[in-house]
Amino acid sequence: MRINPNKCVACGNCTYVCPMGAIYIDPVIKRATINREECVECYACYNGLSQEHLNPTMVRTMRKVFQMMRLRFDPEPDVCPTAAFEPDELTWPRVVRRAFSDPRVPHESTGVQGRGTEEVKTNDVSGRVKVGEVGFTIEFGRPGVGVRFHEIEKMSMTLAKRGVSFEKKNPVTSLMTDTATGKIREDILNEKVLSAILEIKTTVDRTEEIIRAVWEVEKQIDTVVSIGVGTRCDENGEEHVVAPVLEKLGYSLERAKTNIGLGKISNEPAPADQKQEPAGAAR
Ligand code: SF4
Ligand code: SF4
Repeated sequence: MRINPNKCVACGNCTYVCPMGAIYIDPVIKRATINREECVECYACYNGLSQEHLNPTMVRTMRKVFQMMRLRFDPEPDVCPTAAFEPDELTWPRVVRRAFSDPRVPHESTGVQGRGTEEVKTNDVSGRVKVGEVGFTIEFGRPGVGVRFHEIEKMSMTLAKRGVSFEKKNPVTSLMTDTATGKIREDILNEKVLSAILEIKTTVDRTEEIIRAVWEVEKQIDTVVSIGVGTRCDENGEEHVVAPVLEKLGYSLERAKTNIGLGKISNEPAPADQKQEPAGAAR
């Protein structure tokens, strides 16, 4: 994203809408400016502000005249009065920023908008997490911090050493050069995005080990990390295997939502010993 300095009148409205705090009024040129290193191409500025097409010279003159009279001339707070935002023609690798940051753009790898994954919300249909397994979503960057891929890679490589498997239908996985090591493409490592999710699964007995590994890496990276844990319920809709581990680790559990599958099962049939299990639920 760029701001056309010939159009900007430095009203400052856009500085409040950027989730990365990447827009500032440059005191030298007296225009709003975008820190390109920090901008994640989320388009919140471009789409979030109404664009008016006032004449920049006229607006600047009015602002100066009003200032001399100790008055202010400010546009409505949700408006860029001179339509100064000009989206870039994004090319690789910068285009990755937008794919992970603008919720209206679907990920090419998965076709899913937003973070590009359905996580375990459709588990009954997708069968991502089976009986005896636990799935983790490790989310980076939210709220309002963002994350660079080299930070995500630190986590993915640590987890790969522990033998976890990465979800194939996940956009971060699609950017790995080697899912056995968790290595992410070299050319995007410094790209920054609003948020991203790593999805892994392992067996339920390794729940504590994986969470402790996430804690360790979290201390070494400069972003926010949230862990989601998904597993399957028993025939009574309860879960007594993973929940005690989480409580032991200090998490206070609340049944926030139960996902019940109503779709057509399109994944491969479960092994015979799993077939009698009822429709499961992600916790
Ligand atoms: S809202 Fe538009 S005119 Fe106002 S500072 Fe931002 S880019 Fe400049
Ligand atoms: S595209 Fe997003 S991150 Fe970049 S300047 Fe606009 S609001 Fe900020």
